[in-house]
Amino acid sequence: MDGNGGASDAAVPILEETFYALSRKQYSYTVTLTSSGLYLKKNFNGAVKTDFIHVNDIIGCKCMRNNGKSNDCACRPVKNTNAANCQVRVPYDDSTDCSAYLCVYAYILKNVAMKNERRDKMTVTLRFRNYNNYNDNLKTAQKWKHSISSLMRARSEGRTIVALPDNRYLANRLLVIVNPKSGVGKAREIFQRKVAPILIMADVDYDLHITCMQNDARNLVRTSNIYKWGRGIIVLGGDGLMFEIINGLMERSDWQRAFEYLTLAIIPGGSGNGLAKSISFETNEPYTEDPIVISALNIVSGNRCAMDLVRVETISQVVYSFLSVGWGFIADIDIESERLRILGSPRFTIWTIARLIGLRSYPARLSYNKIDNLDSNIKINNFTASSFYDCQDIIDDGPVSIEFGMDPLEEFDSRERVESFSSAISKRTFMSVKEATSFQSIPDVVEESDIWIRGPASKIPPLSEPVPADWEVVEEEFVMIHASYLSHISEDVLLAPDSKLNDGVIWLLIVRNGISRANFLQFLLALSSGTHLNIPNVEMVPVRAFRLEPLSGGSHIVVDGELLKHSPVQAEIMPGITNVYARQKCS
Ligand code: ADP
Ligand code: MG
Repeated sequence: MDGNGGASDAAVPILEETFYALSRKQYSYTVTLTSSGLYLKKNFNGAVKTDFIHVNDIIGCKCMRNNGKSNDCACRPVKNTNAANCQVRVPYDDSTDCSAYLCVYAYILKNVAMKNERRDKMTVTLRFRNYNNYNDNLKTAQKWKHSISSLMRARSEGRTIVALPDNRYLANRLLVIVNPKSGVGKAREIFQRKVAPILIMADVDYDLHITCMQNDARNLVRTSNIYKWGRGIIVLGGDGLMFEIINGLMERSDWQRAFEYLTLAIIPGGSGNGLAKSISFETNEPYTEDPIVISALNIVSGNRCAMDLVRVETISQVVYSFLSVGWGFIADIDIESERLRILGSPRFTIWTIARLIGLRSYPARLSYNKIDNLDSNIKINNFTASSFYDCQDIIDDGPVSIEFGMDPLEEFDSRERVESFSSAISKRTFMSVKEATSFQSIPDVVEESDIWIRGPASKIPPLSEPVPADWEVVEEEFVMIHASYLSHISEDVLLAPDSKLNDGVIWLLIVRNGISRANFLQFLLALSSGTHLNIPNVEMVPVRAFRLEPLSGGSHIVVDGELLKHSPVQAEIMPGITNVYARQKCS
């Protein structure tokens, strides 16, 4: 909410209407829609105060009708009680209410001046009752709705989703995959309580799949007709679940089309959550106060950003990675702390202290293709969006009751939904309480007999051949080497502060043996703020590709938090080959 009303806009009214408040009869509200958003001008005793909702903050709008059950109708934008909220109330004065209501849902930036910036939900409900029959009032409400929807569509103009050659696919649905075991095991509840209501407000149809075991999600995206989920695939879990999706898609014979067509997204429910944090960091969204809401808003925004992937090759396998390749200290913590999973994030801290006391180093040969001039590095920044705001279906097939002080959608929040995802919260939901059978309900399964990772061809020599002559090669002892292509490898580790989703860079963080325990502790503490790069024996090298050949055992090789067989490993960047949802334009 912008207290000064965003007055600098070319605020030419598209629609304007006056509303009255019940409780304070002296108040009237002039509500004006302009190309930049909704202005709510409160007039009282000659004084005027204007609030403003930017069109970018609106996530959806619905027309509704009162079914006459309630004895008090409300046009209420009140969720929060602070003064910035606008209240527009009218009396319920007729048992056969023929008013049409328009609910506009927005998430507004709050506390901008303070440290705890966050986005708060705001619902503005407008009651139209100029005519004495519902249909005419509905027409007026629909006129507002269509204008708001057009503005929401216009903000995505110039950005296109790659369309398939025919339209036999239902391109407007989302697949939500939930790992009920991720993090501290609350992902299902998080979906029902916090994510589903946002999807409903934004009129996003979705199918829900609860994973029943490791690799369930990977098999699902490898074998299903994924194009019916044209709006994309969301994972609610940790980075490990996203790793499954990316690699499952890479196992498809049509992997290229799949990556062009699909937009991915993550709602952080795991113990790492590096991708979710990195997206909000790059787009400057206030993640900390409510990571779930911020990540869900990315999805309903419809905006998508290209993201780099990295092809990782060991002696025995190829995988695609979006987060990091680690070896040495941090990788060891990641793997060895698994046994403390129940503790969530603190497990990392506890294990870190234990490992710091017995600090190890490992010999290795490290070769890399350094990027000398970062500015001229390849940059493919396809900022695109799926144009999916078809806010056309009016909810008037069954009358909707509007209770005073109660957003219709909040009713969903208060329902008991621990075990089943009832159809009341989703128009199209499949899910079985018996998890093991849940994915049998997914149609159009394509079985492929040969499963292997496909994806773009490698441009570097295979591990069996020497590295190119222009690569730099060092052979020494390292405490750790951690390559990252996102800024954050977990919510609280800003490993590569300059990294962008689509910069075409692998940021190679090298900690050499010889670092004192005190300096290494300082390094670890500085990781949360990204100020760890000026410490002796610590170096960050931007590269296109690297090869790491451990010359002893003892450590782990971890890709996106997943353990790989210990062997020589090489990695190369594949710029911008996938897309993720992000509320704001990525840099
Ligand atoms: P976290 O961040 O807590 O590790 P993830 O969602 O990344 O959570 O998942 C951790 C691991 O669990 C991944 O390797 C994933 O493949 C696996 N997994 C996914 N679904 C299930 C399931 N239903 N039961 C057990 N493991 C699962
Ligand atoms: Mg990057």
